[in-house]
Amino acid sequence: MAEKKDIRALTKDELREYFISIGEKPFRAQQVYEWLWQKGHKSFEEMTNLSLELRQKLEENFVINHIRVDEMQRSSDGTIKNAVRLHDGKIVESVLIPTDKRITACISSQVGCSLDCTFCATARLKRMRNLNADEIYDQVVAIKNEAENFYGRPLTNIVFMGMGEPLMNYHNVLNAIDKITSLEGLGMSPKRITLSTVGLAKMIRKLADDEVKFRLAVSLHSARDEVRDRIMPINLKNPLPELADALRYWYQKTKSKVTYEYVVWKDINDKPEDIQALAKFCKMIPCKVNLIEYNPIDEGEFQQADSQALNDYLNSLKEVGIVAKVRHSRGKDIDAACGQLANKNEIAGTA
Ligand code: SAH
Repeated sequence: MAEKKDIRALTKDELREYFISIGEKPFRAQQVYEWLWQKGHKSFEEMTNLSLELRQKLEENFVINHIRVDEMQRSSDGTIKNAVRLHDGKIVESVLIPTDKRITACISSQVGCSLDCTFCATARLKRMRNLNADEIYDQVVAIKNEAENFYGRPLTNIVFMGMGEPLMNYHNVLNAIDKITSLEGLGMSPKRITLSTVGLAKMIRKLADDEVKFRLAVSLHSARDEVRDRIMPINLKNPLPELADALRYWYQKTKSKVTYEYVVWKDINDKPEDIQALAKFCKMIPCKVNLIEYNPIDEGEFQQADSQALNDYLNSLKEVGIVAKVRHSRGKDIDAACGQLANKNEIAGTA
């Protein structure tokens, strides 16, 4: 018998197509969608406005999966990291980041990652699979509940900056964002959601064509191909001129500013030519730059550049009218900071 499908992974349109395909009225999709999303029900049996026969049919073909927070760690700075167990036993991590003004959820989109960025701990896990829309959505709900329970505050922002490359899981990530922003789901404004990508040109164009309303961030780290090729192998197939064209297209279509994430490493991208290249790249479309503090993942090749190099970056960008800020990492003591999500406890536990 074929494996049962996760019904919460479907979009409303896919659900409608399913009901049409079995000869049911399309409005059944709306009824089931409300049970699943508005009412949050966990069994077909409870869907009392459907006939018994239809409920049985759904039961035979689908499951209603939910994630489980297996372990929650709290940092001395208030950051919370969840180890989230999926229905097949795989684990991803998500992070709650509290600041004075915001509570941000940092969400994973894949189990592991296939990109091989040399400075990132998640790359060591390789990619195991894409997350379904409901697995992405449920991470947000878990963090929203923790924000309310531990801090008495609402969740204000969501960033797709956890494990994985969201644009390599395009359909499910957009389906999840649709549920997060729809009134049947969490009703959050798309302006408070940021998708962070390694910079896949083709998929950035697709986002623009799909007229998405959320924010875009690009993990740039270098505006010189010869440097970016070495630290982010994806750049070999997807070089900076292509990325630049796609970003111009994005801005032309959406009029939405892009954020560049950028780590400055000693002897890698801390020279005047690196700074000039970034300043030039930034003049292309309206943008801002977040200089992210490096979180060492081992004793290796990469070291945070000194503060002089950071100041040089800040000054040069300011001269050309670009807003740049240094972002200090949160949750380092529990390995919850950028690039540190690697299921460490899980690995330690199974070793
Ligand atoms: N694949 C997406 C989502 C991951 S976001 C992307 O590339 O944007 C995680 C962010 O943390 C990225 O900007 C990534 O470049 C950055 N990062 C990875 N390893 C890091 C490390 N060790 N220290 C600081 N930032 C890191």
